[in-house]
Amino acid sequence: MNRKSHIKSLSFYPLILTKMKKVILIFSLIASTAIIFAQQPRQQTPQQGQQQGQQQQVQQPRPPQWNPASTEWYYPQPPKVQPGKAAGQPPADAIILFDGTNLDKWESQRSPAERGGRPDPAPWKIVNGEMRVAPGSGGIQTKEFFGDCQLHIEFKSPAPENHHGQNRGNSGVFLQNTYELQVLDGDNNSTYVNGMVGSIYKQSAPMVDAYTKNGEWQVYDIYWKAPVFNGEGELLSPAMITVTLNGIVIQNNYILKGHTPYTGLPRYTPHGRLPLSLQDHGTEVAFRNIWIRHL
Ligand code: MG
Repeated sequence: MNRKSHIKSLSFYPLILTKMKKVILIFSLIASTAIIFAQQPRQQTPQQGQQQGQQQQVQQPRPPQWNPASTEWYYPQPPKVQPGKAAGQPPADAIILFDGTNLDKWESQRSPAERGGRPDPAPWKIVNGEMRVAPGSGGIQTKEFFGDCQLHIEFKSPAPENHHGQNRGNSGVFLQNTYELQVLDGDNNSTYVNGMVGSIYKQSAPMVDAYTKNGEWQVYDIYWKAPVFNGEGELLSPAMITVTLNGIVIQNNYILKGHTPYTGLPRYTPHGRLPLSLQDHGTEVAFRNIWIRHL
């Protein structure tokens, strides 16, 4: 290429560059417009929207399809139990602890070790079909041991005489020989409320005062959930109690903090099944119609 033609070809480059810039600019405009349109929401007809909604519904995870029979079972059959003939009377599967005739199911809590640990017979008296505390003879306990249970027991406070507060008609129902549901004359007898009749002694006052009158029979129905301990003696679940007095709930699933001492604070000591016991607190409290069911 001679010098003249070289100069001519060089003069041609700016024209090509200008045309290329225009082409690039046009393509850029077309691409930008396409992107903007792609980002715009599409206009839908109502029918299109409904179809789309139906498609989304179909894509939702389906709830489980329950068959009513899948939540029903037929075994094991609960055993048939014949109820008592009247309210408060023992059902067929109850253990009769006292029916007014003898104290064969009971023994003294005074258990002299020198006689090989054999306890004395229960020292309380039976008068007119009632079991009465023999003051000073000590408490009595069942020969059988219990854990979770349903207990029915009726009691009657003796004449007040000159006794007041904790000394008037005091006895107690000790679940598992450890946890006292207080028995006390509640007829115009002032005392601390967590020690009144119906209290879990020094832990829980009754929700209401359902005692009637001195000299009238009072009816406890007790539903007891025993505490559970593991092999190391650690508490796995505490004791729980529900009580009705004369048909009225006075303790509602109360969770016990431990035993029920006169002095000091409650605590748990590991144990298994233990006897049911009744307290001798020095007054001639009467009991009748005592029955219990293992739960
Ligand atoms: Mg007591």
